[in-house]
Amino acid sequence: MKPTILDLTKEELSEIIKPSFRAKQIYHWIYQKYADSFDDMKNIPKDIKSKLSENYRLNPLEVVRVEESSDGSKKYLFKLHDGYTMEAVLLPMKKEKFNEEGKTIHETKYSICVSSQVGCKIGCAFCLTAKEGFKRNLTPGEIVAQVLMLKKLNNIAQNRRVNIVYMGMGEPLDNINNVTKAIEIFKDDEGLAIGARRQTISTSGLSSQIEKLGRMDLGILLAISLHAVDDELREKLMPINKAYNIESVINAVKNFPIDARKRVMFEYLVMQGLNDDLKSAKKLVKLLHGIKAKVNLIYFNPYQNSPFQRPNEKDMQAFKAYLNDHGVICTIRQSKGLDISAACGQLKEKTKGELNNELA
Ligand code: SAH
Ligand code: SF4
Repeated sequence: MKPTILDLTKEELSEIIKPSFRAKQIYHWIYQKYADSFDDMKNIPKDIKSKLSENYRLNPLEVVRVEESSDGSKKYLFKLHDGYTMEAVLLPMKKEKFNEEGKTIHETKYSICVSSQVGCKIGCAFCLTAKEGFKRNLTPGEIVAQVLMLKKLNNIAQNRRVNIVYMGMGEPLDNINNVTKAIEIFKDDEGLAIGARRQTISTSGLSSQIEKLGRMDLGILLAISLHAVDDELREKLMPINKAYNIESVINAVKNFPIDARKRVMFEYLVMQGLNDDLKSAKKLVKLLHGIKAKVNLIYFNPYQNSPFQRPNEKDMQAFKAYLNDHGVICTIRQSKGLDISAACGQLKEKTKGELNNELA
C-alpha cells in the first residue's frame, strides 16, 4: 500500500518535488484548500501530479461511522488501510463575543481529540481502549489526517483556529517519534498552522519520554493522567506505575519546559470509594506543591461490566473545594457528550465545554 503524502513535512516534500516552491503550493492545496485529489491541484504541472499519485495516497482514512451528541460534539470512527479502526472527536463550543458595534455575536471554538495508536500497551484497569490490546502505532499522516478530515467534513474554514488534544486512543508518548512529527506538520504556516500552544499531549506518565519531550522544547502543553496519589493504588489502576512511580512522574514534570502563562494539567479520574476521599485530596495538594498545575477531575464513565463506579456529585464537589481552598486550581470535567455511544470509553468523556474551557 502506498504511504500517505500527509506523512511528509514540507521540507521532506521539497526534497522530493523540485523546484522546492512546489512543496509550498502542494501544502496549500492539501491543508488550506482541502483538495480531494492530486488532480484538483490546478497550478501544479501534470508530471508532478502523476509522480505524486503514483507514489502517495492523499487521504489515509475512510469514515465508517459518525455519531453526534445532543451538545454538538461529533465522534468519527475511521478505518485505516489495513482494516484497523480508530476514533477522533470534534468538540465545538459556542462563545459569546462583542463585535465592533457592541453587538453580541456567537463564535464557535473547536477542539479536536485525536488518537495516536490503534489500541494501547499500557493496560489501565479503567480504560476500554486497553481491553483491545495494542495493534499498532499511527503514522504521522494518520494523526494529521484526523484533524484535516474533521475540518474538511465540517466545513471549518482553513483560518479558523482549532485546539488539538492527544487524548484519544493510545499513549502518545509510546509513539513519540510519529506524534512529534505530526506536531511539526500541524504547526506549518503553509499548512494547518496550529501552533504548539494549541496542542496538548496527555500521557499516563512515561517519565523518561516526558523528559525526552521536554528536551525537544517544542512548546506544547502537557497533561498527566495521575488518577491516584499513592503508588499502591496507582499500580493497581495503571501498571505503568511499576516502571515509573508517582515520584518519577512528578520529577519529570518539574523539569518540563512550560510557557510562563500556562500550567501542566493533572487529570484525576475519580472512582467511587477508591480515590474520592479528602485524604486523597490532601495528598494531592502536597504532591503538586511547587508545580504550576491545574487539576481536572473526571467522573469515571462506567461501561458494561466495568469494575469501578461513577463517583457521587457531593464527593466530587467536596474534593474540588478542598483543592481550591488549598491553592490548587481545579475544575470538574462536564460529561455532556454522554449520549455518544462509543467503542472507546474515554472518548465520550472528552466533551466540548470542558476541553475548550480547559484550553481557553
Ligand atoms: N493514553 C493517554 C491519552 C489517552 S487516555 C492517557 O492515558 O493520558 C485520555 C484520558 O481518558 C485519560 O485521562 C484517561 O484516564 C481517561 N479515561 C480512560 N478511561 C476512562 C473512563 N472509563 N471514564 C473516564 N475517563 C477515562
Ligand atoms: Fe492507554 Fe491512556 Fe487507556 Fe491507559 S488510559 S490504557 S494509557 S489509552
